[in-house]
Amino acid sequence: MTDSAPQPATRFAAATYADRLARAARLAADAGLDALVIGTGPDLQYLTGSRAHSFERLTAIVVPASGAPATVVVPRLELASLRDSAIAELGLRVLDWVDGVDPHGLVTDIVAEAMGDGTGAPAIAVDPALPALHVVPLAGRIGAPARLATPVLRELRMIKDAEEVEALRRAGAAIDRVHARMGEWLKAGRTERQAAEDIAAAIVEEGHTEPEFIIVGSGPHGADPHHEVSDRVLAAGDVVVIDIGGPVEPGYNSDSTRTYCIGEPDPEIARRYALLEAAQEAARRQARPGVTAESVDAAARDELARHGLADAFVHRTGHGIGLSVHEEPYIVAGNAELLRPGMAFSIEPGIYFQGEWGARIEDIVVVTDDGCEPLNTRPRALGILSAH
Ligand code: ZN
Ligand code: ZN
Repeated sequence: MTDSAPQPATRFAAATYADRLARAARLAADAGLDALVIGTGPDLQYLTGSRAHSFERLTAIVVPASGAPATVVVPRLELASLRDSAIAELGLRVLDWVDGVDPHGLVTDIVAEAMGDGTGAPAIAVDPALPALHVVPLAGRIGAPARLATPVLRELRMIKDAEEVEALRRAGAAIDRVHARMGEWLKAGRTERQAAEDIAAAIVEEGHTEPEFIIVGSGPHGADPHHEVSDRVLAAGDVVVIDIGGPVEPGYNSDSTRTYCIGEPDPEIARRYALLEAAQEAARRQARPGVTAESVDAAARDELARHGLADAFVHRTGHGIGLSVHEEPYIVAGNAELLRPGMAFSIEPGIYFQGEWGARIEDIVVVTDDGCEPLNTRPRALGILSAH
């Protein structure tokens, strides 16, 4: 990016969040809930554009299922953390509290007010990241256990709208530009850590706000899917797994893996890699509306199994992506969720040979009306790099 490039907005227009809050309230009502209590994190960001952080002092939005306006409860000393969100523009009520006040009591008062003269304990659901130090006192105040808001939130966050898809597309293009430069950094004699430092800088140069994760898995380290970086020195003939990503504004993540070889690969490595490429393609071909998430996993797994590589593929095929790097839907055996247009997830089968080498190919795809659109388009073949 050049310095003169316009900076993308850090959140969407307020109308987007008004719509999301209204849909959240409707889904909460459908689920038999009286209110959602959503603390700081990606769910609050999804609903309001707020990136506020908190821990022991409660910041949360209370969304009544009745459709009454939502209320934000926030410590007075953290009021400024809401400034960049859509909360003011939406005209939401903000109740700030000071140390010594019981914020859980405030929440239960808001819920009771929204319920009118309803009798019995209100049914509230909390976001899955709300700390127990808030969930337990809230439940105590309400006199009933809190439920998880996951069924409501997943239904919203899992289906990306056009603006979200556009952000994910920008993220995909940005990480593709980093992969395109890999030959600058992966050289015999350099360490994984040195390469990772260069990659981290490039992730930001190409438009991300920060590098979220960097895996440089060279030689035997490539056989560990969760290896990050080490001081291992790259050598000619090494296969190197590069799995990288991070957020672009307004907070949507990239995540793409390509596998490289420093110099020409051993013929057996090339043979097995070609099978992985076919498996990844089979999964991409399977991804379309109306099929199950697990069928996409099976497409990749069956292809590898047909060639005796079932045991080499040791993880699920993919995960949803958006404001979080890992979110619903998970592309895994046992997930019978039917794919729908707007779902965005990774397709990332890998093969791992302990003590020797590993390889993975990962694209983010978005389900379209009749198939899927890959947001990563770099060549998927083993990337042959010159050693020096
Ligand atoms: Zn990845
Ligand atoms: Zn991934």
